Amino acid sequence: MLVVKNISFRYDKTRVVDNISFKVKKGQVVAIIGESGSGKSTILKLIYGEKDLEEGRVSWCNKKILGPKDKLIAGHEFMKHVTQEFDLMPFTTAAENIGSHLSNFNPEKKKKRISTLLNIVGLSDCANTKVLRLSGGQKQRVAIAKGLAAKPEVLLLDEPFSHIDSYKKRTLRRGLFDYLKSNQISCVIASHDKNDVLSFADYVAVVEEGKIIAAGTPEDLYKDPVLPKIAAFFSDFSFINGKIYYTNQIKIVPNSKQKAIVSKNYFNGKDYIVEAEFESQTILITSSKPIKKNETINIRFDK
Ligand code: ADP
Ligand code: MG
Repeated sequence: MLVVKNISFRYDKTRVVDNISFKVKKGQVVAIIGESGSGKSTILKLIYGEKDLEEGRVSWCNKKILGPKDKLIAGHEFMKHVTQEFDLMPFTTAAENIGSHLSNFNPEKKKKRISTLLNIVGLSDCANTKVLRLSGGQKQRVAIAKGLAAKPEVLLLDEPFSHIDSYKKRTLRRGLFDYLKSNQISCVIASHDKNDVLSFADYVAVVEEGKIIAAGTPEDLYKDPVLPKIAAFFSDFSFINGKIYYTNQIKIVPNSKQKAIVSKNYFNGKDYIVEAEFESQTILITSSKPIKKNETINIRFDK
């Protein structure tokens, strides 16, 4: 188990990580979500031991992970960190980058492993392309494959799909998390994309200004978002009389005392989001069809 216990850190005067704790069991995925600048990347760096903690402790299987002050050689066998900077060698090929953590003892085995990894990240066609010539998304795939190469027990992923086109992202995401589960690799993923989290995380910690402001399973956080900003992570919502309603929790009904006037429609793929004015507040409602502007609709709040 990876145990993060009461860790804090500051770059200068202000704390950017403030008393963070969570645990990751073998094979579990924990997501750290939060706005840009909330401290996600710093938390991953602290777990990796890239920086010295101001307070607290990080351990894997009861062994303390040391910071640079106490650890002479950077890096770990059991843990890999896929950073937002990718950390690749630009003048060597995708395959060579992926293989750089692998032993040369058995070249055939190494070749096979690289080809498996290229396949997992959907990059088989680029095996012999120099990293320098790859797109941002392709580089990101190489970085993920390189992180997996030496079969780590813990994988830290920092916004791992941020540069990847959305139509490739879904396949990659499923393939990667399947691979992690079937190989029982523990994972901490930093993200601001709900799609990285909803289907794949076992536990989610929402951070703001270095603190965890909410945590739980994706279902728990979705169903009871506690704060509007947590609801906003998952979906559009309306905040009426202190309550959060997702767009599908306001129903358009034949009759109701509660009336709203339609102002806009947004096509959403499978349905429409209707924007309407209700008691001088703007609300958003899921609708199977668009509704004319200025039409009065009957609504029911339905949690
Ligand atoms: P996130 O990954 O959530 O965007 P970061 O962990 O990168 O957030 O940053 C958290 C805070 O720490 C931000 O306010 C950021 O400006 C600050 N910060 C990050 N890196 C440094 C650094 N090397 N020196 C000083 N401040 C930094
Ligand atoms: Mg970051």
